[in-house]
Formats: sequence, structure tokens, C-alpha cells
Amino acid sequence: MFVCQNQPCGAQWAQDEVEIRNEGQGPLFRCPQCGARNPLEVKQAPDGTQKYRQVARLKESPKPARPADGRRGGKRA
Ligand SMILES: [Zn+2]
Repeated sequence: MFVCQNQPCGAQWAQDEVEIRNEGQGPLFRCPQCGARNPLEVKQAPDGTQKYRQVARLKESPKPARPADGRRGGKRA
């Protein structure tokens, strides 16, 4: 069972309800409901089958403060 990590969504999906793919940063599925990307971990079993496991996100980590840049979107000479 996967759970959408998008906070207001949080929908639950069985593995066969979602499409798992790799967009270059490891396997993930997109929530069919909200479209959020949810990263997965893949484990290969000794018999060759692959099992996906949801990567638990750490609790809301504070975003690193960005230095204020007053020229965002400003035009360049
Ligand atoms: Zn969702």
C-alpha cells in the first residue's frame, strides 16, 4: 500500500493502481489523484522479483532559508 505524500491528499493506492516509473532519480509513482511524485525504493529479491517500498519522508524539515535576493526576475542590462 502506498500513501500519497502530498499532505492535503494522502490518498492510498495499491501497487497495481499506480504506474511506477523512473524519471532519472530512482523509481517513483505519481499519485493518480493529485499527480504528486512519490519516491520509491526498490529491492530486488533473491528470486529476481523487484519489490517497491515507499520511501518515508522525514517529518517536515525546515526549508533552508534562502538569502534574500531583491532582484528576482529583474531584467538584465
Ligand atoms: Zn495525491
